[in-house]
Amino acid sequence: MARTDAIVLGAGIVGTSIALHLAKRGLSVALIDRAGVGEQTSYGNAGIIEGNTVFPPAFPSDLGVLARIALKRASEANYHLSFLPQIAPWLMAFRAASRPERLIETARLIRPLFSRAVAEHEALLAEAGASHYLRKTGWLKVYRNERGFPVLKPEFDLATQFGLPLQALDTAGALALEPSLNPVFARAVFWPQAASVSNPLGVTRAYAARFSALGGVTMSGDARSLHRTGNRWRVETNEGGIDASEAVVALGPWAAELLSPLGLKLPLMVKRGYHRHFRAQGNATLARPVLDAGPRYVLTPMEQGVRITTGVEFAPRDAAPTPAQFERIMPRARELFPLGERADDKTWLGARPCFPDSRPVIGRAPGLGGLWLALGHAHWGLTLGPATGRMLAEMMTDATPFCDPAPYRAERFL
Ligand SMILES: Cc1cc2nc3c(=O)[nH]c(=O)nc-3n(C[C@H](O)[C@H](O)[C@H](O)COP(=O)(O)OP(=O)(O)OC[C@H]3O[C@@H](n4cnc5c(N)ncnc54)[C@H](O)[C@@H]3O)c2cc1C
Repeated sequence: MARTDAIVLGAGIVGTSIALHLAKRGLSVALIDRAGVGEQTSYGNAGIIEGNTVFPPAFPSDLGVLARIALKRASEANYHLSFLPQIAPWLMAFRAASRPERLIETARLIRPLFSRAVAEHEALLAEAGASHYLRKTGWLKVYRNERGFPVLKPEFDLATQFGLPLQALDTAGALALEPSLNPVFARAVFWPQAASVSNPLGVTRAYAARFSALGGVTMSGDARSLHRTGNRWRVETNEGGIDASEAVVALGPWAAELLSPLGLKLPLMVKRGYHRHFRAQGNATLARPVLDAGPRYVLTPMEQGVRITTGVEFAPRDAAPTPAQFERIMPRARELFPLGERADDKTWLGARPCFPDSRPVIGRAPGLGGLWLALGHAHWGLTLGPATGRMLAEMMTDATPFCDPAPYRAERFL
């Protein structure tokens, strides 16, 4: 049986970033996944490193929006009716966390971690020789009419308090940034503090390659085989058993399959989301991700073409795909940007692992000595992967974490 200092379970952007940060600190580390590195949720996201984030996503307070979602007429959200009884307690907790004072509290709690998001990626990308994936060109959000604008004031005020720059633009101002957009919107906001990547899979693979170069070992195996042997953790891999005094659970939307049998029950749900790729017509280009704020889809220029990612779908993680949102999104997306033909033949489905307060859990697993958690990164796993990796590696090596880990403790749910 092989021995290492630490086992990291799950090679998405979160687990891979943790493994790399541990290896950088001189630990021997085994990174374990049953699939290829970065091929699950971390493959298909919108590629945005949201250094600009102020508020977390909120349960809609507008009755009109709720009614449209209930009637399945909304582009921004879909649901499976049969799933509602199961998800109802989570939705109630999400709604409670969406009260204005709770949103402000969350915004303040998460800012220190988000403020490092772009810089931590930049550092890892540079050392992995993968800086070519990074675009520090910000994020443009467009608003079809003036109505959506006044409700943004609390976000703008708080951003100003945080020292986060933003530019409120009219149509012409936005077109100066993205000349290929059609002027079908009235207002826009440019968030320069966001960045994006042109290939999220390439980024995770680059971090894994850097991890290997530092002596880290990536292995194939089923994380659910994790069990205690004496005071160590042991997992079975295709190359035999491996044990370590410390193990990290970074299994994204699959984390409960390992934690529940260990007696740790956390309110982790999924918000599913889809993507498709399209070519641009003629010479049309995008320099950065663009959010069409009403229907809440994102257009991101990727190496594979323009990636359109949807908003959320409440459905069981493994239920068959129901990409109905695209029917409502596509006419709007074609209005906004000259999209050409499909550049792929399959709609991708992923599942954002989410806690009701939108904060991930990062830190020790309560009552399970030597076990660490990094899960529930929701809409921000790409954003926070490297910052999470650094913070957790600092905690695991008894260094002072660069940011206060208290808001991310699992104990808040127990
Ligand atoms: C449509 C969409 C758009 C998004 N856009 C953005 C964005 O623009 N910016 C952003 O920051 N975030 C975005 N996200 C969220 C982001 O993609 C996720 O938060 C992030 O990928 C989660 O990373 P992870 O490493 O926790 O999970 P994953 O990437 O899912 O990694 C978990 C790993 O665990 C492995 N695993 C699971 N079970 C087992 C087992 N039993 N044994 C072994 N291995 C196992 C899986 O194979 C997988 O590789 C988006 C998500 C979606 C769906």
